[in-house]
Amino acid sequence: MPKPILLTVDDDTDVLRAIERDLRSHYGGQYRVLASDSPQGALDVLKQLKLRSDHVALLLADQRMPMKDGVQFLQEAREIFPEAKRALLTAYADTNAAISAINEVGINYFFLKPWDPPEEQLYPQLDDLLDDWRASYRPAFEGIRLLGTRWSPRSYELRDFLARNHVPYQWLDVELTANDPETKRLLDALGPEQAANLPIVLFPDGTKLFESAPAEVAQKVGLRTRAQTDFYDLAIVGGGPAGLAAAVYGASEGLHTVIVEREAPGGQAGMSSRIENYLGFPTGLSGGDLARRAVVQAQRFGVEILSPQEAVAVRIEGPYRIVKLADGSEISCHALMIASGVQWRRLGAPGIDKLQGAGVYYGGGATEAITCKGETVYVVGGANSAGQAAMNFARYAERVVMLVRGESLSQTMSQYLIDQVQHTPNIQLWANASVAEVQGEQHLEAISVLCSDTNKMEHVPATSMFIFIGATPRTDWLANLVERDDHGFILTGPDLLWDGDRPKGWTLDRDPFLLETNVPGIFAVGDVRHGSVKRVASGVGEGSVAVQFIHQYLSKV
Ligand SMILES: Cc1cc2nc3c(=O)[nH]c(=O)nc-3n(C[C@H](O)[C@H](O)[C@H](O)COP(=O)(O)OP(=O)(O)OC[C@H]3O[C@@H](n4cnc5c(N)ncnc54)[C@H](O)[C@@H]3O)c2cc1C
Repeated sequence: MPKPILLTVDDDTDVLRAIERDLRSHYGGQYRVLASDSPQGALDVLKQLKLRSDHVALLLADQRMPMKDGVQFLQEAREIFPEAKRALLTAYADTNAAISAINEVGINYFFLKPWDPPEEQLYPQLDDLLDDWRASYRPAFEGIRLLGTRWSPRSYELRDFLARNHVPYQWLDVELTANDPETKRLLDALGPEQAANLPIVLFPDGTKLFESAPAEVAQKVGLRTRAQTDFYDLAIVGGGPAGLAAAVYGASEGLHTVIVEREAPGGQAGMSSRIENYLGFPTGLSGGDLARRAVVQAQRFGVEILSPQEAVAVRIEGPYRIVKLADGSEISCHALMIASGVQWRRLGAPGIDKLQGAGVYYGGGATEAITCKGETVYVVGGANSAGQAAMNFARYAERVVMLVRGESLSQTMSQYLIDQVQHTPNIQLWANASVAEVQGEQHLEAISVLCSDTNKMEHVPATSMFIFIGATPRTDWLANLVERDDHGFILTGPDLLWDGDRPKGWTLDRDPFLLETNVPGIFAVGDVRHGSVKRVASGVGEGSVAVQFIHQYLSKV
């Protein structure tokens, strides 16, 4: 914890300097001493300290000041730091005012001027006050604080971003905690104009970001979005399991490697609440944990991770593959690996788009699960990802309803998950059900469900709906360069050979390597690859195997 603060206020600068000097000489080792020559200036300072989560232990004010006397100042300061000890400096003639202030407004002590010698007239009394303060004080949260509202898509975006990037933060829902005195003090310290610009991110150094996007917050928390050099042996687009595995193997074998990741390292796996089938983890592990471990491992080998940063185009210049990034910058490399996975398929129901992030969510859920405590949650989809999400929500929600188009889960979900879902009493399966429409103004309020067995439409109230209805690759940015199948999955190796013929434009006297695309030196691994097995282990396997082909490719560049 940074040093707590002793703040003294006096309009008489000689007295101010003297008290400041005495406080500093005796308490400077343990406390930070601040001085202000005006009550209003001191109140402004206190508001800034509140926003930075600083701790104020003592407020010491002269009683006689123009505009605002010491008692008035201490009363107002108490609204901002109620736990700080409050003391007055008074002339002998003001003793009565000081005594009544003790009774009426809770002043803890008053000192007579002059206070010489301080060893007798000041320090012993202040020591007592500060001991009391230390004994009863509960430190405030010291990291990043995010103020917003649950139903605001921008607040959700930031919460999700911080959580997926493993940045610790405190979430303050200003509607839910409107009556919490500390939230009120924070909002008062911001003032009505600033407090209206939600979401607000408050950093311990006093920086405030209003209505900011993840990229701005990323810069502030030290996530890297710009490459350190402009050339790499290996550039990887996508920081999911496949990309991270390739990076670890590539960098550990001496390749200068960079990962470009649009959202947060971990990819889809990072959204999984429990991966139970990954070798070596008999009790399962969360996707967040897997991602965190993999990132540390990659960084240990010197991999640079640019996140959040998006690859938007690629071009070829001789032996160089040049990747254009969303901020306009470029990186060039000899070998490029596309490990961009798949993204959630959108549900085409009327009313749904405007409620995304405000009760309607695609995938995710890790950050939202806890906010659904005691509520009914709707999970749309019948595959493993929906099953895992339902199991996770069931720990917090009163009831989880799985909306499944088919008759049962048996065609779409692994048996171990079906067993878990069936043995969880607060998960209810609603089969033959598809979402036909969603309703809500500011946030989701109800959904209409079409039941294919009865052909009836049911309307149910709902506040949260999480959609897991499969995924598609987003590879349009590679369209004119890299060959893809009709669904956008990238073709590699043998899939590029038609009757033994090599792909159009291929000039090398060898076939494309197993995980190589129709462009020599551009590889594709994991879920984005045509025909891949959509699993963490296979993504990891492909990412690491591809590095062997990259070595062979680089040996001839
Ligand atoms: C909820 C859920 C639970 C799952 N549970 C399991 C499980 O228990 N066991 C199992 O084996 N598998 C599970 N899977 C599947 C598994 O997570 C995926 O098969 C695996 O993550 C695929 O890895 P990947 O690296 O190929 O792609 P992804 O994990 O999809 O990662 C791709 C990354 O690329 C990034 N990206 C995309 N385009 C760009 C671009 N243009 N520029 C920069 N970055 C880009 C994305 O942001 C993403 O982070 C689950 C999936 C989900 C969604």
